Amino acid sequence: MFAKAVAVSLLTLASASVFAAECSVTVESTDQMSYTTKEFTVDKSCKEFTVKLTHSGSLPKNVMGHNLVISKTADMQGIATEGMSKGLENDYLNAANAGIIAHTKMIGAPEKETEVKFDTSKLEAGGDYSFFCTFPGHISMMKGKVIVK
Ligand code: ZN
Repeated sequence: MFAKAVAVSLLTLASASVFAAECSVTVESTDQMSYTTKEFTVDKSCKEFTVKLTHSGSLPKNVMGHNLVISKTADMQGIATEGMSKGLENDYLNAANAGIIAHTKMIGAPEKETEVKFDTSKLEAGGDYSFFCTFPGHISMMKGKVIVK
């Protein structure tokens, strides 16, 4: 009984330290061609950072698909334009584009979520980064800022 109590309190301590820095974010996407998050912060004290993308809509991927790509702000338009020609079967993305820092797959109803985990050493503190969707035309509405500290 005592041993079990110790184990439980050790577990509590361990999870408290894991969550000391916020090493993940959830970004929701919708049938209104939007993300409900306009910016998020990546803390470089996290070795890895996880972005979870959810889709709250009911439209399928070929109509209202969304992904989440992270790149330098200067690279985003080029990545989106190149992705357009790759087609839905490639998630409207040339995954080999060197400017892509991280990306999720593209999802649409009935898929509800996906996530990507990346190494924060790929980002420089204070750099100018953005996240965006590469479904054709979506970048005009579906983009936001990634703050790195
Ligand atoms: Zn989209």
